[in-house]
Amino acid sequence: MKCKRFLSISILGVFLLIGFVYYTTVFIFIEDWVGLQSSAGSLNVIIFTFLVSLCFFSFFVCVLTDPGHVPDSYVPDIEESGVPDEERRKNSVQSRHCDKCSTFKPPRAHHCRVCRRCVLRMDHHCIWINNCVGYWNYKAFFTLVLYATIGSIYSTVMIVACSIQKDWEFSERVSFKIFYVTSGVMMVALSLTLGTLLGWHIYLIIHNMTTIEYYEGVRAAWLARKSGQSYRHPFDHGVYKNITLVLGPNMLKWLCPTALSHLKDGLNFPTSRDRL
Ligand SMILES: [Zn+2]
Ligand SMILES: [Zn+2]
Repeated sequence: MKCKRFLSISILGVFLLIGFVYYTTVFIFIEDWVGLQSSAGSLNVIIFTFLVSLCFFSFFVCVLTDPGHVPDSYVPDIEESGVPDEERRKNSVQSRHCDKCSTFKPPRAHHCRVCRRCVLRMDHHCIWINNCVGYWNYKAFFTLVLYATIGSIYSTVMIVACSIQKDWEFSERVSFKIFYVTSGVMMVALSLTLGTLLGWHIYLIIHNMTTIEYYEGVRAAWLARKSGQSYRHPFDHGVYKNITLVLGPNMLKWLCPTALSHLKDGLNFPTSRDRL
């Protein structure tokens, strides 16, 4: 059952973290800064609650969506491997065989040791969603990272704004000051971590790459250089096309984690060679 994925310590940790950040931001920092009853306070609470809701929605989609499994009937298209020589063609097909699942792997699929199966367009196995990030939930994973980054930056701004206008001289106890500093440092660290992860996935999307393919590409480029050739990622179609292949052709739906009508079966992907 997919709901069983929620039974994990790391998922409980994510819930606790989001709950803690939401509670402290709304009921301590915004309340302390402008008060929840004021119009500025209410507006900030509405915006922040909306961001946290989007974050939760993407998180649920990520956890509950099957990232994509290889159908039993799948057999690789030998002609499509594009290798002219019979022996090399055989090797190329053999390299796409998963010994653990005893099936063939479609292009961009990889075996996940944690899930114990092959996953379509696998990016990585993420312990924070207790699921693989693959063909069907990559978009939700990206929106999760995006909304979480915006949310944590928002919270950091609230803490800073609250600290600046506070009269620290008389009113507050030492423990309260320590709580402010600790929360501020924690939120800055969280914003930087999530921001770096977001930057990394924007880089991957504009190159139409997965994390696994990035590392495979580094090795392939090194091997190509050694033999005096150059290497190009086979699924790179240019920045805009790459974005539409991952997030969809409709720009208005780019940030909706469930708008997936542009995805097909995850078994075949156009390569830059197809355009020649
Ligand atoms: Zn496998
Ligand atoms: Zn996995």
